[in-house]
Amino acid sequence: IISIRNLNHYFGQLEHLELRKQVLFDINLDIAKGEIVIMTGPSGSGKTTLLSLMGGLRTAQEGSLKILGREMYNASKQKLVEVRRQIGFIFQSHNLMTFLTAKQNVRMAIELHDRMLDLDMDAKATQILEYVGLKDRVDYYSDSLSGGQKQRVAIARALVMQPQIVLADEPTAALDKKSGRDVVEIMQKLAKEQGCAILLVTHDNRILDIADRIIYMEDGKLQKN
Ligand code: ATP
Repeated sequence: IISIRNLNHYFGQLEHLELRKQVLFDINLDIAKGEIVIMTGPSGSGKTTLLSLMGGLRTAQEGSLKILGREMYNASKQKLVEVRRQIGFIFQSHNLMTFLTAKQNVRMAIELHDRMLDLDMDAKATQILEYVGLKDRVDYYSDSLSGGQKQRVAIARALVMQPQIVLADEPTAALDKKSGRDVVEIMQKLAKEQGCAILLVTHDNRILDIADRIIYMEDGKLQKN
């Protein structure tokens, strides 16, 4: 479902080669449906850059990057947007709207993505919140939820499009042990029940056990293990 071959990435101006800095070197990586891959590695090693390429947030400049069977090398803006819509993103900070309830936050995500008017958005939002274990919190304002519950609302929001790929950047970094566990258990459920491919970037040693595979990035290179 994700297939990366000989991917290089650079920052800096193309017309000033001396200012151009290579941040990813010859990346090769495959992730299958239902697989949970954890990526670790030191700060500044290129993990976020790779994640943003996979998520269609940046254009792949060199090499091949196939997401859901689509080649993203040199992709147009429109193609990036299309791929982005099919991916669930989960970040360290949940970025919820604090003045909305859990259900309103999820509803908003549905409205942004889905223009189908006959969809019962309330029912759908409630159903997704149930899936992440927040059945009894749907009408709570985000402000009044715990850190772990907020992160679960953020996951619910990422799931409205039923993504086949979920990309998560330090999703448990701000959470205590129990809440972190709840969050990764949802990821496991997603992989197992929905066949989602999950790539999770983390420094959190407490969650490494959920990975089918752990990969290590250093100085822009993926180490073989
Ligand atoms: P962290 O764990 O701290 O988030 P990371 O492994 O995710 O680090 P990246 O954020 O991918 O690392 O950064 C990789 C390298 O690319 C770093 O040297 C960084 O300074 C550089 N870099 C990242 N974004 C840009 C940018 N927009 N312009 C120029 N250089 C950048």
